[in-house]
Amino acid sequence: MAFTLPDLPYVPTALEPHIDARTMEIHHGKHHAAYVNNLNAALQGTEHEGKTLEQLLANISNLPAAVRNNGGGHWNHTFFWSIMAPNAGGAPGGDLASAIDKAFGSLEEFKKQFATAAATRFGSGWAWLCVGEDGGLFITSTPNQDNPLMDIADKPGQPILGLDVWEHAYYLHYQNRRPDYVIAWWNVVNWAEVARRYAATR
Ligand code: MN
Repeated sequence: MAFTLPDLPYVPTALEPHIDARTMEIHHGKHHAAYVNNLNAALQGTEHEGKTLEQLLANISNLPAAVRNNGGGHWNHTFFWSIMAPNAGGAPGGDLASAIDKAFGSLEEFKKQFATAAATRFGSGWAWLCVGEDGGLFITSTPNQDNPLMDIADKPGQPILGLDVWEHAYYLHYQNRRPDYVIAWWNVVNWAEVARRYAATR
């Protein structure tokens, strides 16, 4: 069963003015679609055809670069669409809020550290908030389309929030101003989904 491009969970204009519709259309319809197509092509006729994406990522050190880049790309973007929403932003509540306070001191301090991870990821990549094996939260970043589910990750964990800092994610609207994109992005973070993902790791 080949991988397929999932629909965006909202219309491309939904995240404006923070993320513009044209960026969303190209990001989902061209970039994400290419990762799906290239992943299927890389797996076709191999013993790895039919494995789940999570199985592939957990064994990525033994797989070709095309699977790493495009399998990561498919997982990362499917995840990314889910943790954003229109009329979102604000602050998390409940257990997630407590866990963020415990790990970082406050939501503001967490946002500061996360923004630094996003801003200082050189070139293309992602910033992540993850749940570690000890159940605690940590921030990390990965290059290219790598992610913390991969067996090659410096800091492995279960991502519950992630930010795409590839130029294709922001350049049409923000050009070189990655920090402005990060600041605006907090307005579309779907904390309810992040909390659901956090709870699922417990
Ligand atoms: Mn992207």
